[in-house]
Amino acid sequence: MLEIKNLHARIGDREILKGLTLTVNPGEVHAIMGPNGAGKSTLSYILAGKEDYEVTEGEVLLNGESILDLEPNERSVAGLFLAFQYPIEIPGVATMTFLKAALNAHRKAKGQDELTTPEFMKLVKGVSEKLNITSEMLRRPVNVGFSGGEKKRAEIMQMALLQPSICILDETDSGLDIDALKVVAEGVNALRSPDRAFVVITHYQRLLDHIVPDIVHVLSDGRIVRTGGPELALDLEKNGYAAYVADAAA
Ligand code: ADP
Ligand code: MG
Ligand code: MG
Repeated sequence: MLEIKNLHARIGDREILKGLTLTVNPGEVHAIMGPNGAGKSTLSYILAGKEDYEVTEGEVLLNGESILDLEPNERSVAGLFLAFQYPIEIPGVATMTFLKAALNAHRKAKGQDELTTPEFMKLVKGVSEKLNITSEMLRRPVNVGFSGGEKKRAEIMQMALLQPSICILDETDSGLDIDALKVVAEGVNALRSPDRAFVVITHYQRLLDHIVPDIVHVLSDGRIVRTGGPELALDLEKNGYAAYVADAAA
């Protein structure tokens, strides 16, 4: 589903990703863990198509097609969803309006009819009830004044509406209290399916108590230096990154 092959990327003249290779199959949940500065966010920004990053070598395939030349919105239509640590605020645009526009943009790009407001409202009602999202929250501008937990609910709601094939969550747990963490975990677990995959990027193990990954990778200095099962995350939590980072440097 997602294939990253020997990815090298730089910002300015500084190489940050140094040959990153990762294969994610449908239905799998991968965790990428690593020390600060390893390149975790750089990877997610490159997948999202953020400017400033230059890919100098390697490729990124989504369902067999290269996405590196696609615009961010085209990547989204192709089935990629990214959740960032600090979701953007959009003053003046109601959350509901934003979600409808996002969903209809996808439908249009796929040659489907746009949903009418009543059709959309019906869809939203079902999803928002499941996620404990109030209609008051949906009327508020996107993420403006939202608590950490509300931002996460809104993001999971977007995920549930867009039905992406692969979701990348970058340090979505940082700074969240345990309730917000559970919102993310429950949302992800509810959306787990044989035809959808997740990549959960995190510095800490605690999110992985709630979202149990199939495969855990250690990212250090721009490369995956170790791959294992859920036990690898527990070992990292107990013993820290030092051993893996030293291995990689040797
Ligand atoms: P992580 O998310 O694993 O903590 P990042 O991907 O944010 O790591 O950063 C990887 C490295 O790239 C760090 O050394 C960081 O200082 C550097 N870096 C990130 N963004 C920039 C930038 N805009 N300009 C220069 N260096 C950057
Ligand atoms: Mg960091
Ligand atoms: Mg980061």
